Amino acid sequence: MASLYLHIPFCKQRCIYCDFYFVTTHRSTRPFIDALLTEISLQGQAYGQEEAIETIYFGGGTPSQLSIEEIDLILKAIHSHFNMSDVDEISFELNPDDVDVTYLKALRQTGVNRLSIGIQSFSEADLRWMNRAHTSEQAMHIVDHSRQAGFSNFSIDLIFGLPTQTLQEWNETLQRVQNIKPPHISTYSLTVETGTPLYKRIQNNVDTAPREENQAALYQATMQALTHMGYEHYEVSSFALDGFRSQHNQAYWTHKNYLGFGPSAHSFWRQDDLHGNRWKNVSNLKKYIHHLQEEALPHSDTEPISKNELLDEYIMLRLRTLDGLDLDHIQRQFKLDFIGQKKEQIDQLLIANHIAISESNRLHLTENGFMVCDAVIGELLI
Ligand code: SF4
Repeated sequence: MASLYLHIPFCKQRCIYCDFYFVTTHRSTRPFIDALLTEISLQGQAYGQEEAIETIYFGGGTPSQLSIEEIDLILKAIHSHFNMSDVDEISFELNPDDVDVTYLKALRQTGVNRLSIGIQSFSEADLRWMNRAHTSEQAMHIVDHSRQAGFSNFSIDLIFGLPTQTLQEWNETLQRVQNIKPPHISTYSLTVETGTPLYKRIQNNVDTAPREENQAALYQATMQALTHMGYEHYEVSSFALDGFRSQHNQAYWTHKNYLGFGPSAHSFWRQDDLHGNRWKNVSNLKKYIHHLQEEALPHSDTEPISKNELLDEYIMLRLRTLDGLDLDHIQRQFKLDFIGQKKEQIDQLLIANHIAISESNRLHLTENGFMVCDAVIGELLI
């Protein structure tokens, strides 16, 4: 089973922390849709019959900048070029200012059955500081609108650890979460990526950088509060009520094959248990369209993945999840005694209570381990 990711590269305006690929004009929407349909057809000829599709994810950019007709066209093209008999989940990212109940109802009719809503904050001051296009009022109403349209499966994104954000302010956000009880929450600490407007503001002393110790305190508060509300903390940044884990993200974390469409999208396809390829599309809308007008795939980098890289990637992806590393799987597939190979590091991490090993022979991070996730993963790579 495989997954498809569609990168829709349009946004109303630039959020100050964002380093994804997008454009803020709509001049190229029609040529982009034509190019995307060509890419779906070309990749369908190459991979369409290899594996059935399990999940589809519209990300970006902002997919909700597309019309319902455009979304319908894209899904119909996927239906005609891929095996869709086993599709479980079709997720769609949206921003609260783009949609109303009528749009959401029509979206359900296209087959989309899960929403990922970019709320980020309920505070008007924080939204303005981040240069988000929506207001706090729109953030408050979008969950009701989604439910009214019939979506019971949705996630909200929230950002914590803004430079001046206090624990009390973040607790107010968590209180709102308790009131609206979304089935899934993805919550990320604010990171400063090179080249973003936020990066420049910090360089020019307009803003101060987020403080690590503050972000750690807010993350800890998040884990405690959401677990207390009944959410399963099933990945470093992901919390779900029972039955509402993201199937698409789980496919990434369990190393399943996926194809990415649209500018800057990544793909991963393995030929067998120990070899695969990864490639990336050009991060330029004009070039992307031009390639596909010539019926050429818009790939910028393709790299073969060796057995050791596959293993390290498996470790990296799986350690971010509650399910953790399946040590029997590593033994079977990679012929590696992981515990023997990393004995010294594992002993130290067990003493520090950063990891645990379950009865089913899975090595996973503890809550303490989640706090220092990157460092622990660094210790355990081969
Ligand atoms: S809407 Fe999303 S993709 Fe667009 S600029 Fe903001 S964070 Fe980036």
